[in-house]
This record gives sequence, C-alpha cells and structure tokens, in this order.
Amino acid sequence: MTSEPLVAFDRVGKRFGDFVAVEPMHLEIHKGEFLAIMGSSGCGKTTTLRMLAGLEAPTEGEIRLAGERINDLPTWQRDTPMVWQSLALFPFLTVRENVEFSLRMRGVGKAERRQRADKWLERMQITEFADRNVAHLSGGQRQRVALARSLVTEPEILLLDEPLSALDAHLKVRMQAVLSNLQRELGITFVYVTHSQSEAFSMADRVVIMSRGRIEQIGAPQEIYRSPRTRFVAEFLGSSNVFAGRVAEAAGGGIRVETPAGTFAAPLGELAAALRPGDDATFVVSDDRMQLSGSRPESGNALEATVLAEEFVGATAVVHLEGPGGEELRAQKSHDELARLTLSPGDKVWMSWGPEAGHVLPGG
Ligand code: ATP
Repeated sequence: MTSEPLVAFDRVGKRFGDFVAVEPMHLEIHKGEFLAIMGSSGCGKTTTLRMLAGLEAPTEGEIRLAGERINDLPTWQRDTPMVWQSLALFPFLTVRENVEFSLRMRGVGKAERRQRADKWLERMQITEFADRNVAHLSGGQRQRVALARSLVTEPEILLLDEPLSALDAHLKVRMQAVLSNLQRELGITFVYVTHSQSEAFSMADRVVIMSRGRIEQIGAPQEIYRSPRTRFVAEFLGSSNVFAGRVAEAAGGGIRVETPAGTFAAPLGELAAALRPGDDATFVVSDDRMQLSGSRPESGNALEATVLAEEFVGATAVVHLEGPGGEELRAQKSHDELARLTLSPGDKVWMSWGPEAGHVLPGG
C-alpha cells in the first residue's frame, strides 16, 4: 500500500434539500485495495459511491482522485466505471457490442476495439456468447458481461453497487471468487457497496461500516469483527455479545464493568482509556470466544444462561441463549463440540471467556 491514497474524500458531504444523506466524511482509498462499504438500508453507502462515480455532486468537501480534485469532472471524464445490481446492459446489443461500447464512446478504432473486447470476453470466459443478444443470457453470464464492459477500458478503480444481490446463493459464492481473483490479478482498486456481511468480510481488505450518513468504523474484517469500536457496529454485525453497565474499576491496565449479568474484566484498551469508576460502559465479547460448560469455570468471566435455540450456520452452529438480566446472548461452536454438550432449549449452561477476549467501549 502506498502512502498517497488513490481516492481521498476530504470532508465530503451530501444533502438532498434539508435531508443529510452523507455527513461530512474523511475517507482514503488506497491503490490496489478492495474496500467494501456496508451498512443498513438508507445509511448513505450508494450516495457515497455515486459521488465518486460523478453521478451525484457533493454539497460540500472535496473528492480527489490521484491527487486531483474531481468534484466538477463529469462522469464520462472520470475513469471510475460502475457495475450495479441491474447491470444496465444494452438490451439490443450483442455481448461483444456491449463490451466494446465504452471504447466506441472513446473513439477507439474498430480493429483495436474488437481486439480489446475479445481479450476481456476470453478473460471472463464468455467468448462463446460473443454474438448473442444479452437478453438471452443467464444471470451469471450477464454479470460477467457487465464486468468485461467496465474493465475493457482498464480503469484504475472499479465501483460496484450490490453487484451480486440479484443472484442465487450458489452463483453468488462463485461470482465472489471471480471478483476476488480478478481484483487480485489486475491489482485494481475495488470499491464495493453491499448489504451482505459475508460478501464484505470475505472479499474486502478493509470494510467501512456506515450508519445514518456517518462512518462508524473502518478496518480490516478481522479487526472490526473482533473489536467493534461502537455499540452500533457490535450490534449491526450481530456476532457479538453486548452488555451495558458501569465501570467498577479501571486500574493497572485492566478494567472491570458491572452489568446486570455479572461483573466482567477486560484489558484497558485505547477506547476505554478515559473511563473512570461509575461511568457508563459497554462490554463486548464476540460469539466465537464464548466457552460453554456445565459448571462454573474456576477463573475468567462467567455467567449462567438459559439455552433458547441452536442455529446451524454451515461448518459451525450458533447457540442462542438468555442471560440472567434477559440479555440476548450467543456462542458460536463447532458441531463436534455441540454434540458433546448435548444442550436442549431451557437448559442452564455456563458461558465464560478470558479477560483478553473482551473489550470495553465508553457509553451504555
Ligand atoms: P440502500 O442499501 O437501501 O440502497 P444506501 O445506504 O445505499 O441504502 P442511499 O441510497 O445512499 O442509501 O441513500 C441515503 C439516504 O438518502 C436515503 O435516506 C435516501 O432516501 C436518500 N436519498 C438518496 N437519493 C436521494 C435523492 N435523489 N433525493 C432525496 N433523497 C435521496
């Protein structure tokens, strides 16, 4: 990663009338990175992407591409093609004509157009459909045409807005692999807007989590998963156990938070550094760090919970539980471990985790 970002959003905001769709934000996107932007519906992720594409003008701030201000540059003069869910292929053109389209718009001669388009048809493994009308293709094939059409100009950055959301689950996973490989092999920058946590977390180098027009957290998937910086992120990801409480003690590199489910210890992280006894605090521990056992462990954080249900999620399962204060809790376990535990709804079980697995955020 170079220090000079390929894209810089410098206090970029967008209002529609009085409505603030994107609050002034700073965001740097590096050359060659796969950046995913996710958040719930209406949080401003598409508007952010559209501002970068030139389809929406920021109401404040500056967007720079390779150091140059692009706020006033029309879409067709930016090298920021976009692929979106509907794909927007030209229905009366063949596959090859669709792929050649932007080269034609740039005045590239016929022979070169054909040669460049054919290279991308081959790369996307759609050469056999070159002369077919795009209306007569499957969802996955159309997806490949859309990618070839955007990549044929060899842009430095590709913007993708929920490109896989219309595909069925199986095809989605296959296209994820196609996209990841393509991005790595070409070394181009992908900015990828999605609702899907699994897409964002499996493909991206960094994930941006947005809520109500604001960036809540930017980080590598593992970092966000393990250390959500705000209660919103922890709850949005849905993979953490969240306890609201008050600081009981903060000393010697550790912090203890008193909650209705018990008093729990964690290292005194950077986010909790300013907390004092009595302050509101939120204790967070991810579901894959939770141990389950029939009796209380001798050390560490523990609480007794009631089993509600088990949910099978591919290779692992999530046990849903209720804490002593009515908290909704979860533990992620392998099927083997669950088989050993033999839990049934209504059973009491101890949930425990080491202090190093938890972290504390300011605010309740
Ligand atoms: P989704 O996942 O549902 O597509 P999103 O996070 O991409 O949501 P945006 O499309 O960026 O959200 O929209 C952010 C907010 O701005 C929404 O409340 C939306 O209704 C509003 N908005 C977007 N475009 C316009 C517009 N042209 N005029 C008025 N409001 C708009």
